[in-house]
Amino acid sequence: MATVAGVPVNGDHWIDGERIGSPATFDDVSPIDGTVIARIARGDAATAHAAVGAAERAFPAWAATPRAERARLLHAIADGVEKHLDRLAIVETTDNGALLRSHLRGVMPRVAHNFRFFADWLLQLGHADFETRGHTNHVSWDPAGVCALITPWNAPLMLATWKIAPALAAGNTVVLKPAEWTPLTASLLADITAEAGLPAGVFNVVQGYGEEVGAALVADPRVRRISFTGSVPTARHISAAAASNLTPLSLELGGKSPLIVFADSDLDLAVHLAVEQYDNAGQVCLAGSRLLVEDSVAEEFTARFLERAAALKQGDPRDLATDIGPNIHPDHLARIDGFVTRALAAGATAALGGGPNTDLGGLYYRPTLITNAAADSEIVNEEVFGPVLTLQTFTGEDQAVAMANSTRFGLAATLLTGDPQRAERVSGRLVAGTVWVNCFFVRDLKAPFGGARHSGVGREGGDWSFDFYCDVKNTVSAPWAK
Ligand code: NAD
Repeated sequence: MATVAGVPVNGDHWIDGERIGSPATFDDVSPIDGTVIARIARGDAATAHAAVGAAERAFPAWAATPRAERARLLHAIADGVEKHLDRLAIVETTDNGALLRSHLRGVMPRVAHNFRFFADWLLQLGHADFETRGHTNHVSWDPAGVCALITPWNAPLMLATWKIAPALAAGNTVVLKPAEWTPLTASLLADITAEAGLPAGVFNVVQGYGEEVGAALVADPRVRRISFTGSVPTARHISAAAASNLTPLSLELGGKSPLIVFADSDLDLAVHLAVEQYDNAGQVCLAGSRLLVEDSVAEEFTARFLERAAALKQGDPRDLATDIGPNIHPDHLARIDGFVTRALAAGATAALGGGPNTDLGGLYYRPTLITNAAADSEIVNEEVFGPVLTLQTFTGEDQAVAMANSTRFGLAATLLTGDPQRAERVSGRLVAGTVWVNCFFVRDLKAPFGGARHSGVGREGGDWSFDFYCDVKNTVSAPWAK
C-alpha cells in the first residue's frame, strides 16, 4: 500500500473483490518531479486468466439483477466518486501530471456523471414492440458477458469510466486494464465500487504492461467485448487478437484534428479556442492540433494567438494557477521533441516554443507553434500528442475542406465561421466523428462518439453504448391462441 499525496492507494490487482499481488512489480513515477510514488503489481497471463474467470463467474447473477438495482448501484458508485472527489483529483494529478484545477472542476465531476448518466439511460432504454402479419416483434438488449476494457494515460479515470459505466449498466462484468503509467485511480475506483456494494467479481482491475497482461486479456476467448482507447499501433495488435475469437470490439484512437478559422469568424473566439488546444499539455485525442486559417486573416490571427499563448503559465499542475503542466514520461517527451526537431530540420519554423522548457527542467515542453511546414510533412500529418500545433493557411472553402480531410485520421474537427450556411456546407463535407461549430469540447453522453478512418472503429455514447455492450435481440411471437 502506497500513500500518494496523503491518500492510501493499493498497487495490487483487484480480482473477485480481493487484492491480489504479483511476484513482479514496477515503479509508478510522477511526471511532476520524477519521484517513485507507488509500486505496482506486474500482471501476467495468469492474472488476466484469473480476472476473466472471476468476471465470468459473477456474470449470471449480475446479468439477472433487475435494471433498477443495477442503476441504484451505479448511482452509489457515483456517490462514492463525489465523496472522494478531492482524493481522486490529487492522486490523478500526481500520477499523470494533468492540472489539478481541471480534475477538481471538470474531470472528476464528469466521472461521477458517467455513472449517473448510464444508470438513468438504462432505465429508459427500450424500443416499442411492432407487428409483422399478426406476430409481435420485441427488441431487447441482453447483457453480452465479460468486457475487457483497455485505457490510456492521458485522462485515465474519465476514459475508463466512460466504458465501465455502460458496460456494467448493460449487465456485463468488467476487467479493466489501466495504462501502466497511470494505474492509481483505477485502484481507488475498485475501493469505491466495493464501498458501494457492487458484488465481488463484477468489476475487476488488472495492473501491468500492455504487452503482457493486456495482450493476454484481449486474447482470452471468454471475453465477449473489447473496448480500447489508445494508439493506432496497439489497436492493430488488439484487433488481431479479437479477430481470432471473433470478439466484437470498439476502438477509440488518435487524431490530427483541424481547427478551421474562416475570415468571417469571431477572431477573439478563434484565438481563445486555438490556445485551448494546449490543454493537458496537448495530450488530448480530440485536440485541434492543425490550425487552418484563411489567408486574409492569418497575420492578425497569428499575432493575437502568439500573444495569448506566450502568456500561458507553465508549471506545477498542483498549483491552481497553472495552465500547462508536464508531459507524461521521458520517452514521450523525447518523442514529442523528435517530431519538432525533424520538422525544424526539414525547414519549418518554430513561431513559438520549439523545445523543452529548460527553466523548469523535467518533463515540461514549451507550448510550440510550427509554421511553414510542408503539407505532406510528418508534423502536419502525424499525431504528436504534446503541446505542439501547426499553422497553415488556405483560400476558400474547397481548399479548407481538402486540407482538413488530408490526414489518415478523422476524430474531430472544429470550424469557426460567422456564416450559418457555410457552417452547414463545410461541416457536411468534413470527415470526422465530431464536428464543433464555433465551440470546442462540448460533449453530451447521449451523443455518438468515435472516429472515422484511423481514428477508430464503432461509436459509443447513449444508445450506441448499449448497442455495443449488449447482444441486441428481436423476439418474434406468433399470436397466442384465444
Ligand atoms: P497505447 O496504445 O500505447 O496504450 C493504451 C493502452 O493499451 C494501455 O493500457 C496499454 O498498456 C495497452 N496496451 C498496449 N499494448 C497492448 C497489447 N498488445 N494488448 C493489449 N493492451 C495493450 O496508447 P497511449 O499512449 O496510452 O495513449 C495515447 C493514444 O490514445 C493517443 O493516440 C491518443 O490519441 C489516444 N486516445 C484516444 C482517445 C479517443 O477517445 N479516441 C482518447 C484518449 C486517447
